[in-house]
Amino acid sequence: MLIVQKYGGTSVANLERIRNVAERVINYKKQGHDLVVVVSAMAGETDRLINLAKQITPEPSPRELDMLLATGEQVTSSLLAILLKSVGYDAIALLGFQVPILTTDLFTKARIKEIKTERLRKELALGRIVVVAGFQGVTEDGDITTLGRGGSDTTAVALASALKADLCEIYTDVDGVYTADPRIVPRARKLRKISYEEMLELASSGAKVLEMRSVELAMIYKVPLVVRSSFNYSEGTLITEEDEEMEKVLVSGVTYNRNEARISIYGVPDRPGVAAKIFGPIGEAGIIVDMIIQTARPDGKADLTFTVPRPDFKQALEIVKRVGEELGIERLEGDDRIAKVSIVGAGMRTHSGVATKMFETLAKHGINIMMISTSEIKISCVIEEKYTELAVRALHEAFNLEGEVKEEK
Ligand code: ADP
Ligand code: ASP
Ligand code: MG
Repeated sequence: MLIVQKYGGTSVANLERIRNVAERVINYKKQGHDLVVVVSAMAGETDRLINLAKQITPEPSPRELDMLLATGEQVTSSLLAILLKSVGYDAIALLGFQVPILTTDLFTKARIKEIKTERLRKELALGRIVVVAGFQGVTEDGDITTLGRGGSDTTAVALASALKADLCEIYTDVDGVYTADPRIVPRARKLRKISYEEMLELASSGAKVLEMRSVELAMIYKVPLVVRSSFNYSEGTLITEEDEEMEKVLVSGVTYNRNEARISIYGVPDRPGVAAKIFGPIGEAGIIVDMIIQTARPDGKADLTFTVPRPDFKQALEIVKRVGEELGIERLEGDDRIAKVSIVGAGMRTHSGVATKMFETLAKHGINIMMISTSEIKISCVIEEKYTELAVRALHEAFNLEGEVKEEK
């Protein structure tokens, strides 16, 4: 089999952990598998590097920031290859540009355009374990890019898809995908199996156990994906196509996202083309808008509220201020102390009353809902940030998602 494995930051946090990774990799190699191993930077390293740059200026040059951030994964990929070779296993470390993984030139959030597989195949044919630095790529002009936070997951899935691997394993610090973040809900239950679609909704609404783009790619290219722990040998969670068993489950998980901010524009002229005028420049700046609510007012104007990622809040606010002046809006307001809680489940397609139960549960705990959005299999509510944990636990309980209390490791 050809297996792509990805080890996250905590799994390569120090030399001892990297040794543990090498041991696992060697085990698979001994079983006769071909291996491509993607690594993240050591836990905390990417944050440390960002912080260094921000001590110089709050808005570091994105191109140079990517050069800086890519070093985190350069360290771990070379260390793992050095280790594998030192114990007699032929390995080679490759950076994004050496693979190459070609991306767009939107620095700090580049998207993969193409992965050339000749080099990878050549190294695999030589019997080598190929260690790839996650999270990074290269533009056609030869500039180093990164794929956005958590992007090593995407590197792994994209490699698995390009190489038509038999399996893509994401190794992390939890045993798999849970019904809620186990850090917040200790009674969360591990899911044995979940559909791509539900996983995509979980990831996009805040379950950072998998980066959203990686799930999207896995779904499109039908990459068999497993999330499991690098600290034990428990089975993990399989992310795959939906089956009947999954359809029966009403709610599979509860998520939260504290990484968004709300922007409200009051008194927008209510005429064709206005929304495009506001969201056009936001999109051009690479800012992804999540929820949007527009309310028409009796006076022929409209109020518009939407959410953006919190790191993009200031920039988005500035753009809206500029466009708003041109449009002659009444008032602009922003709030970055919000959170979004969501419930996700394939069963929502065929069952009614789920939304009501969610709203009632939040109301029972005195939590006010500021915005609501729904998809076929997800309901999200924006609430005050301080209620996040309370809301997640209450919803988890209301939808009977609790499992056994896990024993301490
Ligand atoms: P890595 O560094 O390995 O990529 P991450 O920190 O990105 O790891 O993702 C793993 C973390 O995701 C877990 O430690 C857990 O706290 C968090 N998490 C959030 N939601 C979930 C969920 N539904 N199931 C499992 N883990 C979750
Ligand atoms: N090191 C990068 C980050 O911290 C990428 C990753 O870990 O997936 O976001
Ligand atoms: Mg991650």
